[in-house]
Amino acid sequence: MCGIFAVTGPEQDAGSQVLKGLKTLEYRGYDSWGVSVREAGSNDLVVTKDIGKISNVNVPFPKGKEAVGHTRWATHGGVTVANSHPHQVGDVTLVHNGIFENYAEHKKRFLAAGSVFNSDTDTEVIGHIISELLNDGLSPAEAIRTACTKIEGRFSILVMFKDVPGIYAARRGSPLIIGRDKDQTFIASDIPAFLEKTRLVNYLDDDEMVFIEGGKVQFYDLDSGEEITKRDIEVPWKLEHAEKGEYKHFMLKEIFDQKDSIARAINHEDDVLNKAVELLKSSNGTYLVACGTAHKVCLAAEYFFSQISGRKINVVAASEVPYFERFINQRTAMVAVSQSGETADILEVFERAKARGAKLLSLTNVESSSVARMSDVHLPINAGPEKAVASTKATTAQMALLLLLAHADAGKINQGRELLSTTSSAINDLLNPRYEEHIRAVAAKYVDRPNMFIIGRGPLYPIALEAAIKIQEVSYIHAQGFAAGEIKHGPLALIEEGVPCMVLGDELETISNAIELKTRGAKIIGVSSENADIFDDWIKVPDAGCAQAIATLIPVQIFSYHLALLRNLDPDMPRNLAKSVTVK
Ligand code: GLU
Repeated sequence: MCGIFAVTGPEQDAGSQVLKGLKTLEYRGYDSWGVSVREAGSNDLVVTKDIGKISNVNVPFPKGKEAVGHTRWATHGGVTVANSHPHQVGDVTLVHNGIFENYAEHKKRFLAAGSVFNSDTDTEVIGHIISELLNDGLSPAEAIRTACTKIEGRFSILVMFKDVPGIYAARRGSPLIIGRDKDQTFIASDIPAFLEKTRLVNYLDDDEMVFIEGGKVQFYDLDSGEEITKRDIEVPWKLEHAEKGEYKHFMLKEIFDQKDSIARAINHEDDVLNKAVELLKSSNGTYLVACGTAHKVCLAAEYFFSQISGRKINVVAASEVPYFERFINQRTAMVAVSQSGETADILEVFERAKARGAKLLSLTNVESSSVARMSDVHLPINAGPEKAVASTKATTAQMALLLLLAHADAGKINQGRELLSTTSSAINDLLNPRYEEHIRAVAAKYVDRPNMFIIGRGPLYPIALEAAIKIQEVSYIHAQGFAAGEIKHGPLALIEEGVPCMVLGDELETISNAIELKTRGAKIIGVSSENADIFDDWIKVPDAGCAQAIATLIPVQIFSYHLALLRNLDPDMPRNLAKSVTVK
């Protein structure tokens, strides 16, 4: 959450470069934005900031070779100009991603001493601490290092000092990546910010700090202050993968990317999959942990493993794992599924599980993410950059890879590969403008309804839960998913004339449940490979056997996308949400 970006180099347009790079990070937060430029000549750090989405911003900046910027997802302090970053305290200008959990005790001390605060943020308190340490005679680097010892919580910060050229950054828990291009250097929370300029990167790890000035890059250990060396990595991403291209929204582009992302997700050598299987087999308890949509993927995987390899998996939302911690030990396989690999709740689970001796396996989309780097075995899902807040292609890629892993666990890798390749081709055939138009027309019939319900059984039950998330997050229609067999134990009370109910699958029992709904006045939207008389509308999906969950989710994603459009909403940037949730 929150995008941060810094540029230093020979060009005098650092401000507009930062603005441009930040626009590619907008998915991380879009409450407000801000840029600070070290003005050529005066050396003043000139801040321009405002509330609203950065994509709409087109403002001039003073000339200058160094700039830092921020696109905010507010945690502490409302969405106001004063609370927007960068914050300035004395000679210190900073931007911050994360939460300074114990900020209140420090703020109290500063207020008691007569300090004045210009915002309600936790971030400004960090500025006061660094400024105080500078006034005590510490060097800029020492002031940052000492300030970091006082901060509890996960964060990354970028700091500029008036009269001290260069930009400093430190991290503990939130991502920071350094991009290097001869005499120009960048620091960003994600690679797309500088992808146009360079693919040569260094990853900053937790408790590390970096100083950049032009082409000069120096890394330090945050505790000892000793200089460290880092490996240069060339990232395989291409610029066009991170752009919308001919599509109106990232969400639609990413839905259509599923024509080939599923095939990429399963493109792993047998020995890589077998390493993951060994890790599972050497354990006597497997936890599958994730957040949000990825958590629903894990619930589907629970069925895959049960049906295909007979393995019992414990699926727990990452934030709930602490309540089960007593069961985690050296014989535990802790498996994390995360698009970004930077989710704070998951990082915390991994850190604590590692301390208890558990083996760590992860599936992430960002190959060099913090979660991936902590893992004993990592399986990249290879979906390519996903920028819409509502996950689509990363979701199906995660499901495909977990389905393949369940087959590998059963000693049936080839069978799994064959099934998924066939499913991928069927999805390729399915994703065409005519199909999209049919789904749009169905969505148009129900767009004004305040509530929607989705039912499914077996692996389609988690898909019903995921469908509800997708509909809610982009269209703001209240949607709820249920296990088809559960509706008579409560949910039927919610059904009245005309309520749209999406029915996933065409098994006999599911159709009986659809009849129960229809009898009470519901309108039935069937999403299945066979049509049924009971359906008021039918969205066809291929018959994909054990991969039915994957095939069924795709039209639901298209349905949600069009509900958002029909309601004049921006599906890429749902209100109150952001991607890559780096706060707890
Ligand atoms: N906690 C800070 C704020 O609310 C930073 C939030 C972020 O990561 O965007 O301003």
